[in-house]
Amino acid sequence: MNHRFLGLPFEWWYPVVWGIPYPIWTVTWTILGLIVGSFLNVVIHRMPREESVVTPPSHCPHCNQRIPLKHNLPVISWLWLRGRCRSCSAPISPRYLGVEVLTGGIFLLTWLVFGAQQPEVALALSLLFAGFIAATFIDVEHLIIPDEITLGGVVVGFLLSAVAPGLHGAETAAQGLKASGLGIAVGGGVVYAVLRGGKLLFGRQRVGLEGTRRVVFHESGLILPSGEIPYWELFYRPSDTVRCHGKRIELSDRCFRDQSVEVRLAATPAELRIGNESLAAEGEPYLAVETDRIDLPREAMGLGDVKFMAAIGAFLGWQATVFSLFASAVLGTAIALVLIALGRQQWSGRLGYGPYIAAAAMIWVFGGRQWWMEWFSWPLR
Ligand SMILES: [Zn+2]
Repeated sequence: MNHRFLGLPFEWWYPVVWGIPYPIWTVTWTILGLIVGSFLNVVIHRMPREESVVTPPSHCPHCNQRIPLKHNLPVISWLWLRGRCRSCSAPISPRYLGVEVLTGGIFLLTWLVFGAQQPEVALALSLLFAGFIAATFIDVEHLIIPDEITLGGVVVGFLLSAVAPGLHGAETAAQGLKASGLGIAVGGGVVYAVLRGGKLLFGRQRVGLEGTRRVVFHESGLILPSGEIPYWELFYRPSDTVRCHGKRIELSDRCFRDQSVEVRLAATPAELRIGNESLAAEGEPYLAVETDRIDLPREAMGLGDVKFMAAIGAFLGWQATVFSLFASAVLGTAIALVLIALGRQQWSGRLGYGPYIAAAAMIWVFGGRQWWMEWFSWPLR
């Protein structure tokens, strides 16, 4: 053991750490988790809206009144104010309470499992799980995981692997960094391979356009008010269809009104249906549709998940990414089956893939790793 922390050998820190009774550390760690949860609420709300997570200080989204520290205590304030803003009484989502309790609970669990033997590993894992919570809530609401979380996670995971090589079952900083680098490459690589080649899971995404807007099928991609989506992301199987109801449909040489539009560019020949009329899409250089919502064939995974899995590899190593890929597919299928049984299958198309990956990686940390090490005897470190 030649770990160092803040430049000092770990042995130097033991009396500092263990001079304080273990239960006090446990309580401190849980409270820290609640405070981190409170910060995650800010991240979940602001990061996908590209607002700073630091300034301005917390304010009520309804009346803009600044929330003083004494009314911004995790859990306690929400319960004390019964989920309402102190100045305008507007309800504050129970999600705020839920995220704080969840983060505190996960910090506590991580500490109880890893804290006594490897406090530095407990610290690094708690940070990873905090990232999972933010990624999950943002992905469910916005179907994206911000780069700050995924690419930030890659960098932080790599650096922490030097401080806490125990994350990878390694002894030295150099071994930790090597395992982390391999995890980043394999994690990003396998998801990218599935995304481009396998098309393992798929769904459909309905995009509301906030009023009637103009969408254009351009040479190489679909232009939505929110930006351009390249065709290779939309059309892979012949059956992949972009659907909408057009209030006004413009081709280069004619116009339609109030017709359904279906576009299948991976079909041979590429197909364009307007109402009951089927046209060869090849011959149409231009198509613009005014519509208020559009259905896109959606890959269950996106480039955000490639970066997300790379971050998991940075923290947990390459085996964790392979395990998480398969375990998340199993979880996703199981949940889809439950939703179908409940007659709620339309919900499954609404879920991004990130939450399944995060859940699978947590299963890895709290048992999957053990299982893997027992079943696969080939050298893995
Ligand atoms: Zn208010």
